Parts: sequence; structure tokens; C-alpha cells
Amino acid sequence: MNIRAEMPDYHTHTSRCGHAVGRPEDYVAAALDGGLSGIGISDHMPLAGHPDPALSMTPADLPDYVAEVLEVKRKHPGFVLLGIEADYFPDRAGDVRAVLESQPFDYVIGSVHYLDGWGFDNPENLAGYAERDINAVYARYFELLGDAAATGLYTIIGHLDLVKKFGYRPTSNMAQVLDTLLRRLARAGVIVEINTAGLRAPVAEVYPSPAILAEVHAHGIPITFGSDAHAPQDVGWGFAVAAQLARRAGFRARAELIPQPGGRMQVEYRRI
Ligand SMILES: [Zn+2]
Ligand SMILES: [Zn+2]
Repeated sequence: MNIRAEMPDYHTHTSRCGHAVGRPEDYVAAALDGGLSGIGISDHMPLAGHPDPALSMTPADLPDYVAEVLEVKRKHPGFVLLGIEADYFPDRAGDVRAVLESQPFDYVIGSVHYLDGWGFDNPENLAGYAERDINAVYARYFELLGDAAATGLYTIIGHLDLVKKFGYRPTSNMAQVLDTLLRRLARAGVIVEINTAGLRAPVAEVYPSPAILAEVHAHGIPITFGSDAHAPQDVGWGFAVAAQLARRAGFRARAELIPQPGGRMQVEYRRI
């Protein structure tokens, strides 16, 4: 693999989540091999209320995860960041906040994988799409993402239109709902990631779609890039295409997270 993308990959998982392979050091090696400019390890945080060894590490695993990533971070100063992907559940934001404050995370990806208890991106739960109004599904999903951003817990909002993963598209115009969401994201000061896992999913389209990406740009929201790799060979996957889509949407720069002494995070902008 030789990606030579002058950007970091901020969305990667490890074997600890039970549905990915590889250790943090394997992902770092893949990023170095691929010529990326950095890597963030961002495994799934223990799922509040949905404990399942096939979905996320256990709370008891979390300190080991952090220690393991900190070790590779020490070995590769300035190249590796300690991240986490933390689901947003409306009734669990306090629990999530407590966990996030207990560890020295460099950044947090905020994701919604559940709509009122329905794990909509899990192929085992596909039947749920037939039982629901697809427009209501989209509206609820975007509402929850806006709520997530408003908590102030999250640095990056993950896979912005994940709800399209299996190809179910809204039948009504989502422009208003989307505009409301993007205003909320801009107000919250979060970053939106271009997540290339969508290209590997049934929908075969990057998250978010090119049309939404143009709206993200119009709202002045910064972007980062994430592969959502669940195997080391997927680190940086599709980044050349993603960079092209970003430029086409109007972006000329991407956000880079620069940890500062004392745990503060500074955002700098780099050309894409
Ligand atoms: Zn995962
Ligand atoms: Zn995710």
C-alpha cells in the first residue's frame, strides 16, 4: 500500500471492539507504510446500555486500551493521537462525559449508531427499515447528531449520513432538516469527517455525500479524513478520492489536530 496522502487518518479501530482486527501498533505501521502524515486510534468506547463484546470493548478494557495507544504515541511523537469513538445516547450523555473525562483523549468522534434503541447500521437489524418511515428515520438521525454536537463532548462528528449505509434513501426533501443540523454543528464548533467506509458499504458512497459535503463547506464547518478502518490494510483507504471530493465541494483546507502541552487541542488548517 502506498497512499502518500499528506493527511492523517483519524478514524481507526482495533481488535478490542470485537469486530475489527489488529493492534494499535499495526495501524501505526500501516499509516507509516502508506505515507500518511499521522494516525488517530479511535476505537469504540464501551457502549452505554448496549454491552456486547462484538460491538465494543468493556469498561474494564478501557484503561488498557488507553495505555496501549499512549505507548505507541510515545514511540511516534507527533504522529499518533489517542482518540475514541463515543456513541451519543440522549439519556446517557452524563455517563459518556464521565468516561471521557477519566482518560487523556486527544479527541473524540461523536457517532450515532442507535435510533431510540434500534442499531440501524448493523446488518442484523435491517428489518427495522421496513417497519419505519424512512423520512422519519433520517429526521430523527440528524436531530440526534445535532443534539450530540450540542453536548460539547465531541471534536469530530462521525459518518454524517451513516443512515444511508444500506441504500435506503429519504423520499422527501431533507434540505430543511439538514440545514438545521449544519447550523447546529457550526454553532457547536465541531469538525465533520469525510469517512471513506461508505465507499466499502452497500451504499458505495462516501459519508457524507458530495451534495451534503458542499453544504458542510457552505456552513463553514471544517473537515478531517477518516477511513473507519477495522483492519490495518484499510488505513487511509480511499483518501485520494476523498480529497478530490473535498476539493470539488469547495474545500481547500482540512483541519489538523495539534495537541498542546497541558492537554489542550489546537486546530490548524492544512491545504488539501
Ligand atoms: Zn466498528
Ligand atoms: Zn461508527
